[in-house]
Amino acid sequence: MEECVFCSIASHHGKGGDVLYKDDKCVVVPDLYPSDYGHVLVISKVHYANMLEAPDEIICHMFEVAKLFAKAQEKSLGAAAVNISTNIGALAGQLIMHFHVHVIPRYANGKRPSGFKKHSEITDEYRAELKRLLSDAVRDAS
Ligand SMILES: [Zn+2]
Repeated sequence: MEECVFCSIASHHGKGGDVLYKDDKCVVVPDLYPSDYGHVLVISKVHYANMLEAPDEIICHMFEVAKLFAKAQEKSLGAAAVNISTNIGALAGQLIMHFHVHVIPRYANGKRPSGFKKHSEITDEYRAELKRLLSDAVRDAS
């Protein structure tokens, strides 16, 4: 059976300090090819193919964590708006068949941190910056 990349992240707590938050039900990591600056993924600890396969308790919890991150993105990254979404099935744009929730901050014109390129692979500096800006804000809020 093929290795599931999100199972691997959830069980090994990510690689190289990618994990921004974790508890007994989920982990939060930066999206490797972010749609916008600060895009994170809330990933279930247990493998479910998508949201429809997951118990309601897990879904509710993951959206609560997504809310914490959305607030942190507003407060610490200066986001003006946020998308919270989950894709169910390849035709809906789901790339990895393991339940995850996207939390994507959106910025007013000129307010996005400079030098950010959408959909480019993230760097170690970017990882460190997100960890510094988001982990503390989430810890304070939770
Ligand atoms: Zn998995």
